[in-house]
Amino acid sequence: MTEATLQKRPITSRQIVVGGVPIGGGAQIAVQSMTNTMTHNVEATVQQVYDLNAAGADLVRISVNGSKALKGFKEVVWRSPVPLIADVHFDYRMALGAVEAGAACVRINPGNIGGDDRFRAVIEKCQETGTAIRIGVNSGSVEKRFWDLPKAEALVASALHRMEIAENLSFTNFKVSLKASHVPEMVEANKEFRKYSDAPIHLGVTEAGTKLPGAIKSAAAFGQLLPYGIGDTIRVSLAENPVEELPVAYQILSALDLRHRGPNVIACPSCARTLGFDVIAMARQVEEKLGSYQDHFTVAVMGCIVNGPGEARDADYGVAGGKGDGVIFAKGHPLRKVGKDEIFDALFEEIDKDGRK
Ligand code: SF4
Repeated sequence: MTEATLQKRPITSRQIVVGGVPIGGGAQIAVQSMTNTMTHNVEATVQQVYDLNAAGADLVRISVNGSKALKGFKEVVWRSPVPLIADVHFDYRMALGAVEAGAACVRINPGNIGGDDRFRAVIEKCQETGTAIRIGVNSGSVEKRFWDLPKAEALVASALHRMEIAENLSFTNFKVSLKASHVPEMVEANKEFRKYSDAPIHLGVTEAGTKLPGAIKSAAAFGQLLPYGIGDTIRVSLAENPVEELPVAYQILSALDLRHRGPNVIACPSCARTLGFDVIAMARQVEEKLGSYQDHFTVAVMGCIVNGPGEARDADYGVAGGKGDGVIFAKGHPLRKVGKDEIFDALFEEIDKDGRK
């Protein structure tokens, strides 16, 4: 599928560029993740940055949580294949150091970075170097001065307050995130924020949990925002190896038809009409093999001839199971019937014939 056929969504944000990656203003949604290695362990961190990039991360965020980490970050920056975002909490001097080290962006949490003067110092440093800032507001660490407001309002107020400081210094090279672990609160905050500002938005659900709940919460939140132009870069946070975040992020974007990476497998759940064709095993096998393909196309694995041929015909490639056999489809046409042991190979013969990879 080409970019032109992807779902159109309203352009509601202005654009910034983070280390060469455009964010907002109609650019494709940038996907990011974050390392969970000790930043001072340079070899492990560089390896994970490479792994995240290979899995599809356009940007990678790294904790700079002390002088040891800052020293490590300096080394990782020049070995990284992608622009890096320094994640800074509490100590604004770490942000200054990370900017000097070559961070493409620094993420600042207004709730714990200290007073406005410290925030101003970071802005002035970023102005010298052309570094972007993420004003990253979190529901769990909202600035004290906004504690009396309802949660979503407090997130918005805190972001707007810091933005005002930045804009008074003529600094607009920032994006904003308003994160919460409660999906409706996060959605409300982002919708509300968009009424006041066209700053690019980073979307994330904090502490989303392990893989399944985390993926579902992220999908539920992003699905209410991205199609309406709210959100320009995303991170799916999972209590998992961060490399696992990328396929989830791309599944969400692909389901919304906003960005694709790799094939889409559709499969029926199977039912009593399945006559000896193991749909579930076949779908898993197909999905696993397609994991190494970069092209975007659709493969259907269907259990029977009732709905099977129709769905398989709409897909680029497909199989509809029969009794001890299956019909292979490609580009809308049934091609041939093969024995059940030959289905997998016959399907991939068609896919590979077209040079899909
Ligand atoms: S395609 Fe056939 S086997 Fe699959 S769920 Fe539908 S009716 Fe059942």
